[in-house]
Amino acid sequence: MLATLRCLLVLLLAVGSVAAQDKPAQNLSPDPTPPGSLHPEPLPPLQHADASTPAKEFFARKPTPFPGPPRSIGTYSDGCLAGAVPLPTEGPSWQVMRLSRNRNWGNPHLVQFIKRLGKNAKKAGWNGLMVGDMAQPRGGPMLSGHTSHQVGLDVDIWFTPMPDHVQSREEREFASATNVVAPDLLDVDANVWTPTYTNLIRAAAQDAAVTRIFVNAAIKKALCREAGTDRDWLAKVRPWWGHAEHFHARIACPTDSPECQPQPPPEASDGCGHELDFWFKESTLHPTPPLIPPKPKPPLTLSGLPAACKRVVEAP
Ligand SMILES: [Zn+2]
Repeated sequence: MLATLRCLLVLLLAVGSVAAQDKPAQNLSPDPTPPGSLHPEPLPPLQHADASTPAKEFFARKPTPFPGPPRSIGTYSDGCLAGAVPLPTEGPSWQVMRLSRNRNWGNPHLVQFIKRLGKNAKKAGWNGLMVGDMAQPRGGPMLSGHTSHQVGLDVDIWFTPMPDHVQSREEREFASATNVVAPDLLDVDANVWTPTYTNLIRAAAQDAAVTRIFVNAAIKKALCREAGTDRDWLAKVRPWWGHAEHFHARIACPTDSPECQPQPPPEASDGCGHELDFWFKESTLHPTPPLIPPKPKPPLTLSGLPAACKRVVEAP
């Protein structure tokens, strides 16, 4: 009985600490995309909204973009998007998944990148892209998943090639992506991984618009091994938590978005040396949960975002 209680306590603490850090613990889950819905319900109107209302509550309730010229405003994790355009739900080399989430919006430069990558992926032997989350119609923070994806310059691409048919709504809402990481998290899964995955990620990283790509550390390890002598593109590919079933591609601030705040460029090194050690330490793979979970960070409010974002989200 006592043992069961202790187990439960440890589990609760573990869950608490994951929520607090706002990152998927790669030892607990490969961060699968939850199933969607064939009949998504609109969110109920906000009651008693005030200055303390989390900004994500406002952004999640805007089903349409802010009209006018496209502008990515702020940083990838603290910003918004005006003049967003949708990625069409399917094209010759891509299909959008989880349509019920209404997150297939982006800066037109992101949409162009995805179409270009679809073509280049086909040349690299990948049948086309299954596209996960991009941004909400006005960007900004989201009610679920992601701290970034706020300025319409980020996209998640599933590690599952596009099927040869146009998928039904059911397939798009309920299919799962492929987890390419081995159960021990130390490398990719030899039963799943093929060189085509390397070719796909290389095609994304070699696109001039891309500034960073996030993958699970086990995937980065495999890319380091398989890259051969042409290694410049590896600098853009960074290990991160989760990202075992999809990779995250980020394009740089476009020059026609002067309010977009760029990140410093990644270090020139291929990141295949000691930089990887941290990710495979026992304490990273299987962290001991703190006895007292840290208090979760208070959610971002509108006053914490660039001033222009208040106008973007409050416009009808
Ligand atoms: Zn992402």
